[in-house]
Amino acid sequence: MSQGFGLTTTARLALLQRLAKRRARQEESGGSGDARGFSALPGLRDFELMRTAIEALHLPNPFFRTHEGIASATSRIEGQEVLNFSSYNYLGLNADPRVMAAAHAAIDRHGVSASASRLVSGERPVHAELEAAIAAHYEAEAALVFVSGHATNVTVIGHLMGPRDVILHDAMAHNSCIEGARLSGARRIPFAHNDPQAAERELAAARRGAGRALIIIEGHYSMDGDVPDLARFIEIARRHDAWLMVDEAHSMGVLGPTGHGIAELQGVDPSEVDIWMGTLSKTLSACGGYIAARRELVDWLRHTVPGFVYSVGLPPVLAASALESLRILHAEPERVARLNANTRRFRDGLQARGLDTGSSAAHAIVPLMTGSSVRAGQLSGELFKRGVNVQPITFPAVPERAARLRFFLTSEHTAEQIDRAVGIIAAASGGLAPVELAG
Ligand code: PLP
Repeated sequence: MSQGFGLTTTARLALLQRLAKRRARQEESGGSGDARGFSALPGLRDFELMRTAIEALHLPNPFFRTHEGIASATSRIEGQEVLNFSSYNYLGLNADPRVMAAAHAAIDRHGVSASASRLVSGERPVHAELEAAIAAHYEAEAALVFVSGHATNVTVIGHLMGPRDVILHDAMAHNSCIEGARLSGARRIPFAHNDPQAAERELAAARRGAGRALIIIEGHYSMDGDVPDLARFIEIARRHDAWLMVDEAHSMGVLGPTGHGIAELQGVDPSEVDIWMGTLSKTLSACGGYIAARRELVDWLRHTVPGFVYSVGLPPVLAASALESLRILHAEPERVARLNANTRRFRDGLQARGLDTGSSAAHAIVPLMTGSSVRAGQLSGELFKRGVNVQPITFPAVPERAARLRFFLTSEHTAEQIDRAVGIIAAASGGLAPVELAG
């Protein structure tokens, strides 16, 4: 095991012994060595190790927790009312009565499914309305919506680029961008996180001899909560004849005084970005993804990209929910201001107590660096016991030393809730026992 997961050497050895025993038991009972078995799948060992560590440390499992109602500033999980920091309900629109009414009306009119691909089976009016609204949001010529944000990146990047091409992406880019790049067969080059100079160096070295080039960045990074210098990336893209794609999953409705994203925050002309991508699942309180760009690209995607052509249309109920959420976002920019103020209050509160919040720019996402996966798991478990729900981000999602808790704020958190959470977090962080294995 190359990673220590924050355990002492003795604890690590004990854990490895446990893992070895578990494997031996599985093998005895025929769970392994079976030609048709799945136990050799990559990643399974890391997952088993993490599960064994969770059990050995008597931590509550932080994954797949069941929310019994609406997950907003608070949530009810396993019968307990908690302060919630693990949902992307950034502007509190998931339970907004106007969004629910739009969803009900769409169900009454169309049922719950689009029932087939839009290309072959036809549109619902709300698809075109949503696409027009998203295009207008980015001052783009056109937009296209897909059934999943993840699938949008995979299918669009995978389809747009090919084996002769080169893709540069931020080292902390979302998995969906990386999967899309892999699918394309293009040469894939990660550059150091949020470092335009590194991106330019890599691009300059790789550009000659390559076909097309694509730079992928995020408007607001989901792990660290920091933002790139968009104008610099535009310059680099132009200088090296590359397209620039910006994933706005966590910037739509979050960045800029009216939530128009990174371009608004930094006063950049949005038409300078070649491909805007985002999801409907966060601020827009639905599910699905979108691309906003020039009409020629959107038309090409609409007729050729496999994840759209060969996949069911976005359920009208979700299109209607996203459309109404977008309308509310534009009508009530004070929600964006509240979200940003809440996040600043939370981040500054943690920092004032000497806690490490990494490079968070305090727009909606605040990491709390813990230095090890076990400590992240331990702290998440302790906080849950004290009524704060937050997920640990552990190896292999981030390098072991970059393990953390990741807090998502909403416009709906009150100042009292934020201050209470900060107090609980500071107390729990200081009072953690050294990591030793129980039993
Ligand atoms: N892009 C980024 C940056 C994300 O953080 C996510 C999801 O968290 C996605 C894409 C995928 O979006 P979805 O969860 O809506 O499929």
